[in-house]
Amino acid sequence: MNKPADLKLATVPCWIGGKPVIPAGRMGDVYNPATGRVSKQVPYCDAATIDAAVKAAAAALPEWRDASILRRARVMQKYLQLLQAQHKDIARLITEEHGKTLPDAMGSVQRGIEVVEFVCGIPQLLKGEYSENVGTAVDTHTVRQPVGVCAGITPFNFPAMVPMWMFPVAIACGNTFILKVSEKVPSAAVRMAQLFKEAGLPDGVFNVVHGDKAAVDAILAHPGIAAVSFVGSTPIAKYIYETCARNGKRVQALGGAKNHAVVLPDADLEFAADALIGAGYGSAGERCMAISAVVAVGAAADPLVKLLEKKAKAIKVGPGDADGIDMGPLVTAQHRDKVAGYIDKGKSEGAKAVVDGSVPPVKEGFFLGTTLFDHVKPEMQVYKDEIFGPVLVVLRVETLEEAIALINRNPYANGTAIFTESGGAARRFENEVQVGMIGVNVPIPVPVAFYSFGGWKNSLFGDLHVHGLEGVKFYTRTKVVTTRWPHQDTPAPGFHMPTLG
Ligand code: NAD
Repeated sequence: MNKPADLKLATVPCWIGGKPVIPAGRMGDVYNPATGRVSKQVPYCDAATIDAAVKAAAAALPEWRDASILRRARVMQKYLQLLQAQHKDIARLITEEHGKTLPDAMGSVQRGIEVVEFVCGIPQLLKGEYSENVGTAVDTHTVRQPVGVCAGITPFNFPAMVPMWMFPVAIACGNTFILKVSEKVPSAAVRMAQLFKEAGLPDGVFNVVHGDKAAVDAILAHPGIAAVSFVGSTPIAKYIYETCARNGKRVQALGGAKNHAVVLPDADLEFAADALIGAGYGSAGERCMAISAVVAVGAAADPLVKLLEKKAKAIKVGPGDADGIDMGPLVTAQHRDKVAGYIDKGKSEGAKAVVDGSVPPVKEGFFLGTTLFDHVKPEMQVYKDEIFGPVLVVLRVETLEEAIALINRNPYANGTAIFTESGGAARRFENEVQVGMIGVNVPIPVPVAFYSFGGWKNSLFGDLHVHGLEGVKFYTRTKVVTTRWPHQDTPAPGFHMPTLG
């Protein structure tokens, strides 16, 4: 589609064993969403290529897992410097393939780089525990060891940040890693792999493969992979979780979201509206932490909707690399059409389209305008489904209790926010709402790298969240060692269950 027949397109390679590899076999198209044209090709890996990546990662494991923690930390420090120097170039690749604006792409790369910064402190993070005299002359200590070859499977919406939630932590902990990045946005991952090699990472420790379900299924089935981290939509997250569990792999699978922002009548409405506009329409709504449902409480509703209407209409839509643009295109034509379908659905369900973005403000590319629906009811599809586009819906309730009950009935539970001047209301919200990440007057409460990121319910399958201390736990296994050095004062080991006392 939209590909001149005589144009020779570049192919984005895989990165296996420290070098670029273009395997034979199926290829897919990579689009520039701002023009709607195919810009590159990407290989869709089969089981043989996944096996080659696992072999490279397995071969690199013994040296890397036994490298001193300081050596691993120094590679991370060098990598941090290179990423900082290449920050804008990586962001440009993201804008070209995802469509989001360059400042937005830069912000997301920065949030990923912060995870690398976090794991520069890996010597501190991997410290174990030690207890002297748990029994007479008996000591106990713990060690954290890497789990082995790990894999990450990531979505289209954050081509650098979401992979960086995973691989820097895994690798700093002494594992080797295979990243299957989204086939829609493959280039940033390969650039990050090249830079890692420049930073001194041994070949085979970090590998990048591309592709669709076939590549993912080969990862899930491969006996050489010990742990899988996934971020993407809920149905695929559930599939990944169940398949990994069946195949005996450690797994964390982060899914989709429908994030609510509650606005109480005492809130600074101008401040709240600005926050909601950024959180609803930034990155064209293609963020797992986007606010997609505003819950306006009591008298907040009418003035809030007026403010949102004015601000949503003022958003400048255009190519992500142009100056002064607030919102870029959707990622693909199919996704744009799906979101447009939801705009039609909302109107036919009886929601009030205060702002209607169904007519694209830019002719070329995969654009839509901003849409704001008011008087949305919980049973409407535009509320129930994750739309993942520039569509903000407003539901009206009378009390904070109703708002909390609405959120707690929703099957997704990634992030939520409350806007209020009341500490008591905010505290109650924080205490009662069943959601993984909460913002108080903060619309997109993405935790910083040294905390952990993850939702509840259908937004996360597994126990441990990503990065922060939970990330370190996910990528390590603990051993507990009990030690006695026999000498004349220690009692001899007994026949019955030892009490060590
Ligand atoms: P997706 O689930 O379609 O794809 C995610 C990954 O899974 C990709 O690498 C893709 O190649 C692979 N995949 C797709 N279909 C598959 C199948 N049938 N079998 C096996 N693998 C398959 O998600 P997406 O459209 O790339 O990303 C958007 C989704 O990701 C949204 O639902 C969004 O909420 C979610 N997301 C969640 C978080 C979070 O932290 N919870 C963060 C970012 C994105």
